[in-house]
Amino acid sequence: MSLDKSRELYKKARTLLPGGVSSPVRAIKPYPFYTESASGSKIKDIDGNEYIDYCLAYGPNILGHAHPRLKAAIIAQLEKGWLYGTPTELEVRLAERIAGIYPSIDMLRFVSTGTEATMSALRAARGFTGRNKFIKIEGGFHGAHDAALVQAGSGATTLGKPDSLGVPADFTKHTLQVPFNDIEALTDVIERNKEDVAALIMEPVLGNIGPVLPEGDYLRDVREVTEENDVVLIFDEVITGFRLAMGGAQEYYGVTPDMTTLGKIIGGGLPIGVFGGKREIIEMIAPSGGVYQAGTFSGSPASVATGLAVLDVLEEEDVHRRLNATGDMFRGRLMEIVADLGLDYSVCGISSMFKIFFGDRPLNYSEVLRCDKEGYLGFFFRMLDSGVFLPPSQFETNFLSTAHSEEDIERTLAAYEANLK
Ligand code: PLP
Repeated sequence: MSLDKSRELYKKARTLLPGGVSSPVRAIKPYPFYTESASGSKIKDIDGNEYIDYCLAYGPNILGHAHPRLKAAIIAQLEKGWLYGTPTELEVRLAERIAGIYPSIDMLRFVSTGTEATMSALRAARGFTGRNKFIKIEGGFHGAHDAALVQAGSGATTLGKPDSLGVPADFTKHTLQVPFNDIEALTDVIERNKEDVAALIMEPVLGNIGPVLPEGDYLRDVREVTEENDVVLIFDEVITGFRLAMGGAQEYYGVTPDMTTLGKIIGGGLPIGVFGGKREIIEMIAPSGGVYQAGTFSGSPASVATGLAVLDVLEEEDVHRRLNATGDMFRGRLMEIVADLGLDYSVCGISSMFKIFFGDRPLNYSEVLRCDKEGYLGFFFRMLDSGVFLPPSQFETNFLSTAHSEEDIERTLAAYEANLK
């Protein structure tokens, strides 16, 4: 496999873009492949190599790349113009659909990224409660805004820098941390900060160091403790929303938070974020309330039109039932491969999310960090050489899409077997 053009382009890119990329997770060492195009389950680089893609843009492309119905929706919207600076019927329609699917959402606001969604959700929760502190889960990633960049997963963990330079301690002094799957730790932190905690924000399934799943009744217990203490519970479902089920992890586990953040899938590959929740909280947002939030691209017509098309396809094609079954089968086969080879690795995941951890099945951030990160990177390159593109980090989730054929999956499993050997 030749990557000559990517290697050359990387040299130039590094002089123009920090690390040669537009987002840190893309900076594969010694150099990333630069993409030329993508369609269905395949992504093609500028050297002409084609890979079966399980990164899928880090989650949005549940229907694969360039799905024809999403493409048609985008083109139809482009014909009518793509940014107005005025409200549209499209955003009202999409808001109605989302609110109909997520019982935790009475009202919502559209933004352009998941980062904006969680940042604004926290502001709303603080405005609503009049309290300053919030709790996050160690290794949880809620985008790259100041208050959330504390022991953050995703690229921050991969780079070994889960706390960022340039974030004054004053900006994170209200951010409290607890380990995942530890209800005692959460109860204790809430007890000790009783009058000060506005919200708990959490990924119900940790997707940015994982997938790491909630154990037993953990999510129900979280709901109970937060409710008893008037702490606003925010489920960050930027990854799990429309992935585990139409109604995300909250539908899958039957636990309803006070607020929800969404992104990725609901834009069908175009930029989007959503934060929503109980009416009395979201009514706090300007112009109806005093919590300021605004954006030139918020509710972007092309993103919203694509979101409506995504929902149509997900509903009409019974995607979650089919894809979750594929996920179960795929993980089962991977477990057999790992067992047959006598490896003490663990296959983790849920729904259409999966990962092999080079170590024991982790329950939280500190356990994930014990996995063999370097070994995993070597494995990533061997898989790439076999024509399979996985997210390069031990700390990122792999995704399946409806575009993956049986043949793709058989080829992928054969590549896993050969390269794990
Ligand atoms: N929240 C979660 C759970 C995420 O996984 C991400 C991104 O990966 C974000 C928030 C931030 O979303 P965005 O990258 O669209 O800003």
